[in-house]
Amino acid sequence: MSEKGLLIVLSAPSGCGKSTVVHALMQRRQNVSFSVSATTRAPREGEVDGRDYFFVTRERFDEMAAAGEFLEYAVYVSNCYGTPRGAVEKQLAAGRDVILDIDVQGAFQVRSAMPDAVLVFLLPPSYEELEKRLVLRGKDAPEVIAKRLEAARAECARAPEYDFRIVNDDVERAVTELESVIDGVKNERQ
Ligand code: ADP
Ligand code: 5GP
Repeated sequence: MSEKGLLIVLSAPSGCGKSTVVHALMQRRQNVSFSVSATTRAPREGEVDGRDYFFVTRERFDEMAAAGEFLEYAVYVSNCYGTPRGAVEKQLAAGRDVILDIDVQGAFQVRSAMPDAVLVFLLPPSYEELEKRLVLRGKDAPEVIAKRLEAARAECARAPEYDFRIVNDDVERAVTELESVIDGVKNERQ
């Protein structure tokens, strides 16, 4: 039987570059799966159902939550987000590392449910840079960006509670640091 994979929780304020870093990590490593969350948020331009998120109605989300289908779930800036439990457990059992791109509330739910999970917080180089990235991404209305920036301050305040912190100044450098964290934890647990 193969060894169980590592569960990696990656949190960061929206716009910090989580998706970019996760994408780059998966280009480098074949053994990492991305956990596709369910959300009630509307798809952004270019997002694909089943790849970026499972886009569901609020009714469907509530049904899934009631049926215990989520490993964790939370409300973030007026929308619901949840991690489907089955897919994560299956990938870990198959020996694959699984990365969850989830918010702070979800991260601590995962730590309680699965204490072996490694919690990594991706920090922006500064709030000014974070605002620039949100504007540059060009996918959210100005009032949504303002709300996300407000949420960012509260989120970054919880970074010290994570197992590791990585500053996303340069994508390739941040991914290398994330790889070192993954390898370091695996070596330690051998
Ligand atoms: P998140 O998934 O955290 O919401 P994204 O990955 O969508 O963030 O990144 C937000 C924007 O910032 C995108 O336009 C992305 O290209 C840009 N970005 C990500 N990482 C960096 C970086 N290290 N330096 C400069 N821009 C970045
Ligand atoms: P976005 O709308 O920008 O894609 O995501 C907003 C926030 O929700 C981000 O912080 C992202 O990490 C978080 N998020 C995405 N999926 C989940 C999930 O399944 N559970 C939780 N708790 N947060 C999630």
